[in-house]
Amino acid sequence: MEGVTVRTMDIEKAAGLLRAGGLVAFPTETVYGLGANAEDAAAVSRTFQAKGRPPNHPLIVHLAGAHQLDDWVADVPETARLLAERFWPGPLTLVLPRSPRVPLEATGGLETVAVRVPDHPVALALLSAFGGGITAPSANRFGSVSPTTAEHVHTELGDRVDLILDGGPSDVGVESTIVDLTGPTPAILRPGGVTREDLEAALGHPLAVPATSSVRVPGQHPSHYAPRARVVLVAADDIPAEADRAREAGHRVGVLLPPSLAPETVTAQAVRPVPASTAAYARGLYGFLRELDHSGCDLILASLPGEEGLGLAIANRLRRAAGPRPSSAPGHHAR
Ligand code: AMP
Ligand code: MG
Repeated sequence: MEGVTVRTMDIEKAAGLLRAGGLVAFPTETVYGLGANAEDAAAVSRTFQAKGRPPNHPLIVHLAGAHQLDDWVADVPETARLLAERFWPGPLTLVLPRSPRVPLEATGGLETVAVRVPDHPVALALLSAFGGGITAPSANRFGSVSPTTAEHVHTELGDRVDLILDGGPSDVGVESTIVDLTGPTPAILRPGGVTREDLEAALGHPLAVPATSSVRVPGQHPSHYAPRARVVLVAADDIPAEADRAREAGHRVGVLLPPSLAPETVTAQAVRPVPASTAAYARGLYGFLRELDHSGCDLILASLPGEEGLGLAIANRLRRAAGPRPSSAPGHHAR
């Protein structure tokens, strides 16, 4: 937690606010969440208003431990218990049939519910003190990258949130892996902090790779996790020439510089070298995108990492950041 201290008093205050229908932003190991009492339909609806996001998006219900699974899920399959045992607390979300306790406001009207136990001392203390489930989408406005520090949350939501608990920078830095356990075989809906390889090892069989290309799904915004600047994906070796071309075309160019390139090979307004370790890259990714936005770039050049381990989640977020954007909201395009 890098020296940040959250006192018991703050946790009690936060739990009280949740009981009273308030919104509390809290740290998790993935990104900061915008928390509400999952059983309070009005409070859950307020999280959508605070984010400026359409209300038909299902939320993840955060729990204090796997012992609460049966309270929130109608029928818990053995596979869910196995994955919970292996990966919770941690960046794995399981989609399961909802119990009547889960209001439809929290599931976007679906009969399934997404549940997870976050691996962060502040989140766990809050969940234990509160006792119930906490819905928490990422604590950012619709149209911005996810927050990985309390300061990002403050910049994003200001006084739209009743309290922000500061637990230091998020350690994983990208969202959880979502696994759907309601079909005939487990399926990854979104790659994230738990790797596909680790899931396959735990399950004992291969998992389908999700479609990480920016496919156009009707009714969904293909663009997500996007900074203000337009993100363009190019092969690493082409970045120096592409940066020159874009600069000559009048762009203020930012570069997420892959480890294979030396900074002096690129001329750009802002160059952010990315770490060679995918864990460090994932941890820093959203901060880097914010940093490039702040430097005034209107175009960000990036290349995809190898899709092993956490590289799969990083590549997924970069593809979505580079995806086509709804023309109605120039400059603000993600959820
Ligand atoms: P976020 O809270 O921004 O990390 O997003 C939550 C993610 O979980 C979204 O991508 C949702 O589509 C997904 N999700 C939540 N509940 C369900 C569900 N019942 N079925 C499928 N996906 C879900
Ligand atoms: Mg989000």
